[in-house]
Parts: sequence; structure tokens; C-alpha cells
Amino acid sequence: MSRIYLSPPDVGPREREMLLDAFDSNWIAPLGPHVDAFEAEIASITQRSHAVATNSGTGALHLALRYFGVSPGDRVITSSLTFAATANAICYQGATPVFLDSCRSSWNMDPDLLREVLSSAADKNDLPRAVVAVDLYGQCADYNKLSAICEEFRVPLIVDAAESLGAGIAGRPAGSVGQAAIFSFNGNKIITTSGGGMLVTDDEQLATKARFWATQARDDAPHYQHSELGYNYRMSNILAAIGRAQLEGLTNKVDVRREHNQFYREALQDLPGITFMPEAPEARSTFWLTALLIDSTLAGNSRDDVRLALEAQDVEARPVWKPMHLQPLFAGCEMFGGAVCEQFFDRGLCLPSGSSLSTGAREKVVRVIREALGTPQL
Ligand SMILES: *Cc1c(COP(=O)(O)O)cnc(C)c1O
Repeated sequence: MSRIYLSPPDVGPREREMLLDAFDSNWIAPLGPHVDAFEAEIASITQRSHAVATNSGTGALHLALRYFGVSPGDRVITSSLTFAATANAICYQGATPVFLDSCRSSWNMDPDLLREVLSSAADKNDLPRAVVAVDLYGQCADYNKLSAICEEFRVPLIVDAAESLGAGIAGRPAGSVGQAAIFSFNGNKIITTSGGGMLVTDDEQLATKARFWATQARDDAPHYQHSELGYNYRMSNILAAIGRAQLEGLTNKVDVRREHNQFYREALQDLPGITFMPEAPEARSTFWLTALLIDSTLAGNSRDDVRLALEAQDVEARPVWKPMHLQPLFAGCEMFGGAVCEQFFDRGLCLPSGSSLSTGAREKVVRVIREALGTPQL
């Protein structure tokens, strides 16, 4: 049997058809009709007025941070429990990330903690330049609370929705809240262009600036004149064509991942010491990855025992993100709280969750986990 991956790409004949359409049209460039159409489609499903396609989610986040004036000496608040790309983009602007703990109800940034940190920063007249909220594993952060708090303190809110396309909370789609939000179409995300990203916003000036910076900041002159620093951050028309085909299948991919999550819950719920990442009140997660916690004192074996048992059977499972405040790179950064995300990192495991995962494959995952915990299925 072949290896079972965590979240492999899921493409088919429609992606192939769109790819060939882009190829045959000779729009083999970081612009073209598929880029324009992909932007319009993402703007529409995220209820945004503008979308800018980029060659990565990290690049999209970098553009947004620069627009809000993030610069050397500034501090930017974000979640500790995230992928390094979130914090890296802050460092690209020479700023320092400040990390916040998660709340147990969503695993995302704790709004009460954010309010505390911002109000004590306001007292010292030392507010951060921006807040980057992260939607973890397909679940939106508490958009209502976080955006109200950021508005109160007049700090721009950027949502790192790299992992949550297709999710929603309180009637709002992922990426629809904050001054800007970003998505990733990396190979492991819910839809992929092999690599790519998107910046969404309602701020026309931000969209225009982002496009300008993403294409080497070319001034309006025939002789390639530059007054500002630019990047090569735009998405290829070839990849946008794949993205459009993937987007047609988004609803189905969300349904399939949610179904995997339901399956895992039902198949493992009787095991002592196992708890799943909760779906927060009013949230509809995509369950991009199904994540669970294993309390070794109750379960009998640890997260690593289970992970290694899966690996021995050629199943890819991964610990929950290592929090940024525990990373050597960010060791000197400020951290508020930490007990919650540290526990998630100690006990958390992400299970194979791809939309192409077969019934037989997920049954094997369950079988190996139950055997590793000494409670095989009857
Ligand atoms: C994947 C991911 C990114 C980065 O996206 P790329 O397209 O790989 O640059 C950023 N933030 C989070 C939370 C991610 O999971």
C-alpha cells in the first residue's frame, strides 16, 4: 500500500483542461486572463472588493504589512500557534513579532488577551503597528471580537487566512474581516496552484499599491523607472488557471474534509484521553487538518508513540505547529501567556485529512491509532 499523506494535492481532469487552456493561449506570464478571473472569483467568495494574486501567501502578507507602514523598530502582534511564515513576513519589514497565546475554544488568538495587551500598550503609548490574526487548521479566529478590539485601539487587523479558505464564522466567510486578509495555495492547502497566494481587501489604494510593489514597482514610464522598492510577487497565469479549476471544487473539498473529521471523531471518541480541536461557537471550520490532543496519562501512550506507530505504517501525521515563541529564531521575542499553545504542541497531532483520502486509508489511520493506544477495535 502506498504512503498516506497529511494533505496532498487533489487535482483532476478539470485542472488539466484549464492548464492547457492557459498554455495554448500563450499567456505564459505573471499576468493574463486567468489571473484576472481568479482574483475576481476569490474577491466574490470572500465578499471583498479587491483581490491581488501573488506567488505565495507569505508574499501577500508581506505586501499588506508594508502597506500599513510596518517598519524597523515596530512591533506586530500575532498568534504564537501558527506556521513560521506569519512571523517571517513581519521580520521581512524589520519589525519584531509579539506573540499571544491561543484560547481553548478555537485554538486561535485569545481576544481577551489581545484586549489586555493592547490596553496596557495604549497606556504606555506604545501600540503595535498591526495585529495579524491567524485562522488555524481551517477555523476562523473570532473575527467579531478581534476586529472590534482592533478598531477600538485603531490598530490595523490583517487576517492570515492561509489555512481557512472556504470556512466561515458568524455568517462571514474566511478572509472577509480586517483591513486585509491573505490566502495560500501551497501544495498542502485546501486548494492549490502548486504555490501561490492572494491578498484580499476592501481598500482600493491597498490593492493598487500591492499590485505595484508585486511587479517590481515600475513607475508609469516607458523606460523602466523605479522610485520605490519592488518585488517579483505576482502569480503566473498558468497557475491561476489551475487555481480556478480548484476553486470550482472548493465546496466539495470542504464537505469531504469535514466528513473525514466526523469519521475520526466517531471512530476514536470512546478512547480515554483523546480530545479533538473544537469547532468554535458560530464557526464552520473546513477542518483543513483534523487535529486532536492525546493526554498520555489517560490514553496510556503519548502523541509521539502514536505518531511513530503511524509512521511505521507509512502514514504521515504531524505534531501541531511548534509555537513561535519556542522557536530558536524567535527566542528573544515577547510572549503573552503560553500554557495553552504549549500544551497543544505537547499533545497535538494532525491526521491525514486530504480531500482525496480514501475510506480504506482513513480506516487504516484509525486502526493504527487504536492499536498504538492498546484499544483495538472489536
Ligand atoms: C501555508 C501558510 C502560510 C504561507 O503560505 P505560502 O503560500 O506557503 O507562502 C502562511 N500562514 C499560514 C498560517 C500557513 O499555514
